[in-house]
Amino acid sequence: MTHRITVAGIPVDTRHWIGGRRVASPDTFTDVSPIDGTPLAEISRGGATEAEAAVAAARDAFPAWAATPHAERARVLHAIADGVEKRLEDLAAVETADNGALLRSHRRGVMPRVAHNFRFFADWLLTLDREHEDFTTRGHTNHITWDPAGPCALIAPWNAPLMLATWKVAPALAAGNTVVLKPAEWSPLTASLLADIAAEAGLPPGVFNVLQGYGAEAGGALVSHPGVRRISFTGSVPTAGRIARAAADHLTPLSLELGGKSPLLVFADADLDLAVDLAVEQYDNAGQVCLAATRLLVESSVAEEFTRRFTAKAAALVQGDPRDEATDIGPVIHARQLEKIDGFVRRALDAGARAIVGGGPHTGLGGLHYRPTLLTDVAQDSEIVQEEVFGPVLTLQTFDTEDEAVTLANDTRFGLAATLATGDRERADRVADRLVAGTVWVNCFFVRDLQAPFGGSRSSGIGREGGTWSFDFYCDLKNTVTAP
Ligand code: NAD
Repeated sequence: MTHRITVAGIPVDTRHWIGGRRVASPDTFTDVSPIDGTPLAEISRGGATEAEAAVAAARDAFPAWAATPHAERARVLHAIADGVEKRLEDLAAVETADNGALLRSHRRGVMPRVAHNFRFFADWLLTLDREHEDFTTRGHTNHITWDPAGPCALIAPWNAPLMLATWKVAPALAAGNTVVLKPAEWSPLTASLLADIAAEAGLPPGVFNVLQGYGAEAGGALVSHPGVRRISFTGSVPTAGRIARAAADHLTPLSLELGGKSPLLVFADADLDLAVDLAVEQYDNAGQVCLAATRLLVESSVAEEFTRRFTAKAAALVQGDPRDEATDIGPVIHARQLEKIDGFVRRALDAGARAIVGGGPHTGLGGLHYRPTLLTDVAQDSEIVQEEVFGPVLTLQTFDTEDEAVTLANDTRFGLAATLATGDRERADRVADRLVAGTVWVNCFFVRDLQAPFGGSRSSGIGREGGTWSFDFYCDLKNTVTAP
């Protein structure tokens, strides 16, 4: 079997990357493009044996990388960022073929962000010591250091594969750890390209490893391995539960970035065009965005006008091939995801919801296209309001008072993000203060500075990453107290 295939004309290796070399598994799984259903590759299907090998490689490489001076680690991470920038077009094309997200977004937003992930954490590493100067206690000096923790298991989802993976890989490596990355089985390809880039950038063998395979097999073996010192997971709540149970056996510290059911609160004093733009933006990536504000909560007095403008704007969205520059919404990732999305919508309609916009698959386009959908007449305790759909499906509810808006906004088990549209600064402060969310955006959406803490409250996750918080997670902090 050939292990080096081409996707969108770009060579990609289908094997694991362990200890600085390619390793094949006897079994494979088929990676299919959501654009047209064509099989892209037979990918090595890892299990316990390959997880063992990857953790062993990470463990062997750890002492030397941990002892590498900060400036040198930062230099190598910048070289990886250079490599990402050099291969930006390749990464964008392969990611689009693999997960069906827009090529234009990959080119202009996502892949530059991947490079930035490496540059940011490389630079942040160099500020750590300066930011936290020594302090004294009765003449004794306290000196805090961020000691690397060891091999890290990093598990990523498919909706923004390389961006979310490198949001973990970059700080973990900067902190002096070695890593095993397990990409999602629906989007395994760009992690393989990243292995090539990291090797070319001079990252020593074993510092960065890629383990391919299914979640329950490769992922399960990795997170239950006693040699793993940190697990950082982005994905769904049920998987997080399984990982937490596996981690409990060895008390492996966990960072969990999970799903959401975030609200967008539109007050009557808002710039209504801005509010509509923010609402329509929630269809980005065919709604497969953890942070998406999928519950539109609109003050009753402007609800009719909001709906009119929203409907017109949503109707102008272009659905189609994600490689086409004019396309706004591409396919969803997989036939199973399409069925899942449609199941949510069918059940909501059966329960009395009304589709103001969309309401089913885009039959004209065929394939995996789902029409952007807005449902109203939904009960607060209904499945469609309470559960994450992870597709282009929004609900619309109205409120009459600020209190009611906050109560509705907070009334799910999630707490990832919330967005407010209001022209009143004081109201913005008041409401933001009362919302349960890891991030609150006021009159904006998706503005994410890597130095800010990122994560979710309640079932949306455990822990925060970003800036120093990432180093806190990926390190064992140590305070050395020295007598005068
Ligand atoms: P998922 O939980 O099905 O899979 C995520 C990853 O976990 C995949 O790599 C999968 O192979 C792996 N996995 C599955 N079972 C495992 C196990 N037992 N042990 C170890 N690994 C295992 O999630 P998904 O469908 O790929 O992603 C969508 C979900 O991710 C949504 O809920 C979304 O909200 C969430 N998400 C959250 C964020 C965030 O930052 N909070 C970002 C993106 C996506």
